[in-house]
Amino acid sequence: MSHYEVHLIQFVVDFANTFDPFLDEPESLRTPADLQEFLQQRHIEMSGSFTEIEFMRVRQLRNRLRDIFLRLEISEPVEVQREINSLLGATPVNLQASISKGELIEVKYEIPTTVALVERLAVQTGLGLTLALQQYGTERLKVCAAAPCQEVFIDVSKNKSRRFCGERCANRYNVAHFRERQRSDKD
Ligand SMILES: [Zn+2]
Repeated sequence: MSHYEVHLIQFVVDFANTFDPFLDEPESLRTPADLQEFLQQRHIEMSGSFTEIEFMRVRQLRNRLRDIFLRLEISEPVEVQREINSLLGATPVNLQASISKGELIEVKYEIPTTVALVERLAVQTGLGLTLALQQYGTERLKVCAAAPCQEVFIDVSKNKSRRFCGERCANRYNVAHFRERQRSDKD
């Protein structure tokens, strides 16, 4: 995978995880300024500041993306395909071939920054999701198993056995189950 593709996939994971039910305040995109910072950190160009409505639409897009992840296991392929195609079709894109010295050929997409932010992000998200599915398959696109956490992650472990988003939840889950076992031993 090229750096560009890795970046697109990472964006999908980061974007989905801007809402984290495990935290006291699950929403990390609370204000348009939060969104602006999130996008700037990921080098996404903006044509200027965006409106409150645009901001709310981006959050809705994020919720749609989370929904795809949360239902991936039970969804029919045709449903996933429909969702992704609806993201990809949000606005027309220009495709550009990019050839660098190490003979790395990439296809990049370009959308003018005059196009509404939510439409540009929809295409970017659809593309990232497609690449993630192509590279890893639905089985490796996971949601953390330690409720109430719902962080999404890509399981790159050898035997597809990773269940938690990270140490935080793995430890929490193990402690809770250890206590449960102790309780049932006493009964
Ligand atoms: Zn977690």
